[in-house]
Amino acid sequence: MNSIKFDPDLCVNCETIDCLMRCQYISFTDIAEAKEEKLKINDGKDSRVLEECLTCYACQEYCPVDNNPFFLLVERQEEKGFLPAPRPIIEEQLRMMAPKGRIAKETVSGPVVDMCAFPMLTGCVRGKLFEGASTIVGMDIFCNIMWLHFAKNSTIRKRVPEMIDNIMSFYLKDADTDELICFHDECFGTYTSVADAYGIDVPFKPIHQFDYYNQRLDVLKESIKPINAKIVYQRPCSNRLCPQTDKILDEIFEKIGAERVPRKYDRETALCCGGVPRAHQREELADELVEKNMNDMLSVGATYCVFNCPFCMATLGQEVAEQGLMPILVSDLVQIALGD
Ligand code: SF4
Ligand code: SF4
Repeated sequence: MNSIKFDPDLCVNCETIDCLMRCQYISFTDIAEAKEEKLKINDGKDSRVLEECLTCYACQEYCPVDNNPFFLLVERQEEKGFLPAPRPIIEEQLRMMAPKGRIAKETVSGPVVDMCAFPMLTGCVRGKLFEGASTIVGMDIFCNIMWLHFAKNSTIRKRVPEMIDNIMSFYLKDADTDELICFHDECFGTYTSVADAYGIDVPFKPIHQFDYYNQRLDVLKESIKPINAKIVYQRPCSNRLCPQTDKILDEIFEKIGAERVPRKYDRETALCCGGVPRAHQREELADELVEKNMNDMLSVGATYCVFNCPFCMATLGQEVAEQGLMPILVSDLVQIALGD
């Protein structure tokens, strides 16, 4: 079994302990206390962080030297049995989200869009933006990154290579492309950040949805009718694994005339949508996060609430709509600007 890629000496010599000092859910009196907890985690000792972590992924982004603090934290949670959710919930999820073995070989041609486990979203792949695209979808190609929220690195190690093998054997092996457009941010995070840290080989080239839209908007620039609207953005946990794509999103918004209104809980201080603590049965915390996000969004005056992650949209979409904002996925907002 590959261990998580990380260098303990970087933490020993770290002066800021950004991974923990910038955590929005756990407080430390000072850097010395945060360092003590971080070194305990690294050394395989008990730490309160293992129990208190919301599993928001943000420390992956906060570490200035990419030392994989969150992936290591999940490793230790599993080793030591600190489960973020009740065990029966985790076991039920493991069964529900398991591969189904119902995959069949299909001829696909580029661009091939990976819809992960969201068959209900394949209708988003339409119009000029996705001209000529093939979609692939289902539990047998589910990226499985969600197990980071359930202290199950072992499931990631087992299932992700199986999913990669399915994607290659059933779709990409005979396709005219080795690129896979990841409609879901989580898939891109799995096939780049997770794969690198866990030592998992990826034989295809993952393309983030934002990179794809950004390039298509250049090709289709004559068709763009700027939407001239203010938007608020709900940045998902998975985007912490590919923070470079947040700047691409800014380029997309600029091209389609969407003004990303600054708010407290965006960019590096994005707040969890509440879906994960809800899944962990931490209802009070989930309600608190929904309320904080809503108050923050409503305070800046926008027309759209734009989502990257379908799970965030499922969690916050109804509340957002009831409060007068239009919930929408990035791809659909781009489609509006393209007149589709
Ligand atoms: S994980 Fe990164 S930020 Fe955290 S202590 Fe180690 S080097 Fe510093
Ligand atoms: S994953 Fe989020 S809640 Fe957990 S330690 Fe890292 S920053 Fe804090």
